[in-house]
Amino acid sequence: MSTSESEVHVALLSSAGMGHLTPFLRLAALLAHNNVRVTLIVTRPTVSLAESHLLARFRSSLPQVKILDFHLLPLDPSTVNSSDPFWLRFEAIRRSSHLLSPLILSLQPPLSAFVLDIMLISPVIPITRALSLPSFVLFTSSVKMLSFFSHLPTSSFLADDDDVCIPGISPIPRSSIPPPLLVPDSLFAKIFFQDSSHLKKLDGVLINSFKELEPETIDAINGEETLRKLLPPVFDIGPFMPCEFEKVDNENSADCPLKWLDEQPEDSVVYVSFGSRTAMKRDQIREIGDGLMRSGCRFVWVVKDKPVDREEEEELEEVVGHELMVKLKKKGLVVKTWVDQREILGHRSVGGFVSHCGWNSVVEAAWYGVRIMAWPLNGDQRINADVVEKSGLGVWEKKWGWGQVVNGEEIGERIREMMNNESLKKSAQKLRDAAREAVGDGGTSHVAFQRLTGEWKKKK
Ligand code: UDP
Ligand code: UDP
Repeated sequence: MSTSESEVHVALLSSAGMGHLTPFLRLAALLAHNNVRVTLIVTRPTVSLAESHLLARFRSSLPQVKILDFHLLPLDPSTVNSSDPFWLRFEAIRRSSHLLSPLILSLQPPLSAFVLDIMLISPVIPITRALSLPSFVLFTSSVKMLSFFSHLPTSSFLADDDDVCIPGISPIPRSSIPPPLLVPDSLFAKIFFQDSSHLKKLDGVLINSFKELEPETIDAINGEETLRKLLPPVFDIGPFMPCEFEKVDNENSADCPLKWLDEQPEDSVVYVSFGSRTAMKRDQIREIGDGLMRSGCRFVWVVKDKPVDREEEEELEEVVGHELMVKLKKKGLVVKTWVDQREILGHRSVGGFVSHCGWNSVVEAAWYGVRIMAWPLNGDQRINADVVEKSGLGVWEKKWGWGQVVNGEEIGERIREMMNNESLKKSAQKLRDAAREAVGDGGTSHVAFQRLTGEWKKKK
């Protein structure tokens, strides 16, 4: 790439966790492939090993992207009301944000735009404003979640018991509000309430979604006066394409799902994973194992026992139990390691996905046309599950509440229903075609991306 002064140069700053880092790296790759010069500002240290490994692979696969380390100030955890290691890191980044100015000023050619994480709005905006640098957020959840977030300053849900009603959008039931928001002094609630009123100060929001996945909400944010007043321009530029650098080098290991998947019939396997940071309770793990056996389906199941991979100590068999493990091995593959979800969802034998509805997982399922059985467990996941259900990508058993242990019998029945649901299979495949059209030449996301980079060029 040329280093001419007229080149568009964008810096990206993610916060902690794979659910944030992965979409940032996919965006970096998309921009780099479209002749945008990219600098990735990487906060050090990372929370999980998965983040470090992904960054190392990214670095060697896209050497044209400059990586700038951002060393965080240590955070005294006793000053913060949270024990979640990822939220603590969000707070550490926020408290270190004044160190960003010299990093930004050191970059050549000067930046055309700065893309930051949703968790960093209020501390970073004053910095980019002081440098007259256009700033954009990459929102790592659904457009529906964005509309909820933007609506917070005008919402009274903490004071009353009503559902959240946002013009043009089907109401968000009280039971879908992210639970930490109902604990007013939680760190999560503090960040949310502090940041939501600053959204309008941004030059734009980029989002890994597309028109056919969230038609109602995307129409509302563009058409409804109330939402337009709360939000800057929104660029729906998804799905972000899963990338080669995400490939995990485990081909020679017994845990390698690909080898096993190659031997299974088409559309016969259900993939079960609750993302990168959700530890399942021991009794729920056993019920899931029981449910998988009862479903009669083949499966790949990723067991997670601790929120942070560095702390995973116990062997799989200790966590699942010897007897159950013996039965499970006859029918499927159970692992307790990081897998390449992209390769699993893209495999012809995988037809269904039991998912917590972390937004990246939802969009990946849409990209590969894999139907979802939604099982939201925390945060934005019920709001995302609603998108899954309404779009025809999946089904959602709403009566399973936050954190309630669901028994194996019910789990098995729901999985069997999802795998046998032919109309769901067709609608998920239709969404895959729509996803590919959206990013293809002239598609809605492609046009939004052109509009965005065009604006960056003009602002130079
Ligand atoms: N993921 C993966 N392998 C795993 C677990 C997760 O590749 O073993 C990826 C998954 O494909 C997704 C991201 O990690 O891109 C998790 O993000 P998501 O928003 O789905 O959920 P979160 O982990 O933030 O709860
Ligand atoms: N979020 C938001 N506003 C905020 C903070 C978070 O809309 O001020 C969204 C964001 O998309 C995030 C989601 O809420 O991904 C859930 O956050 P959480 O920390 O629970 O999970 P993570 O995304 O880290 O897996």
